[in-house]
Amino acid sequence: MHPDLANLIELEKADREITRLSNEIASLPKHLAVIEGKLADINTRVQKAQDALKAQEATKRRHESDIQDLQQKISKFKAQTLDVKTNEQYKALLHEIEFAEAEIRKHEDQILEGMTATEALNTDLKNVNAELKAQTAENEKEKEAARALTAKDEKELTEWQAKRTTQRAAISSDALQLYDRVVKARKTAVAEAMTQQCTACHVMLRPQTWNEVKTNERFITCDSCSRILFYDPAHEPPPPEEKKPKKKKAKKEVEEATAEPGADESVPVV
Ligand SMILES: [Zn+2]
Repeated sequence: MHPDLANLIELEKADREITRLSNEIASLPKHLAVIEGKLADINTRVQKAQDALKAQEATKRRHESDIQDLQQKISKFKAQTLDVKTNEQYKALLHEIEFAEAEIRKHEDQILEGMTATEALNTDLKNVNAELKAQTAENEKEKEAARALTAKDEKELTEWQAKRTTQRAAISSDALQLYDRVVKARKTAVAEAMTQQCTACHVMLRPQTWNEVKTNERFITCDSCSRILFYDPAHEPPPPEEKKPKKKKAKKEVEEATAEPGADESVPVV
């Protein structure tokens, strides 16, 4: 193989790794933002549940205070009944007392309803707090894993970059120029040719080009995508055996011959 071609294949591997590692490192902040976002969502739900409980408490206190006021009114009315002069006045006061008592019952009913709501809210809060605890632990784990991966990536990236510098120094400037030009246009510059095709763009190679690529002795670029082509005989699928289709056919014939008579008739014709 042409030494520059062999080196470019290796350089391509280094460049791919450098790109992959750089992308992975760059995706870390986004990943962290996503997991922090999950936690923030749960925190908002905790806050909402707590606010709803507070509101419920405030409503309850309002009802209790209203009941107290009504009870004071009733006491006042009852005291007044001792001083009434007429039956009408007495009846009016009794009516006021009944009305206030009915109001108290309404407030008591609402307090009871509120207790059911409070119970449900407390369950919600308990659940969402459990979720918060689990997500916090999960976040810590994920952050730790992300930090470890990034540290590993950064170490590998430094190694690959050093490797790349060494690799580039060993390649002729012409070959490097071609490589860099194609990388700029296509992101990758080297492509394996397999079964007479460029594996990057899948365009068929002309027989003459294919034969030349197979020698690996010259720089051949793909007519379609301009990538530098190389050939690896280990990846070439074995040529199809000519006997194979015949064998298949023969097998089918045997199957047909041994099939039960009338078997075909059991298949409904649509
Ligand atoms: Zn191509």
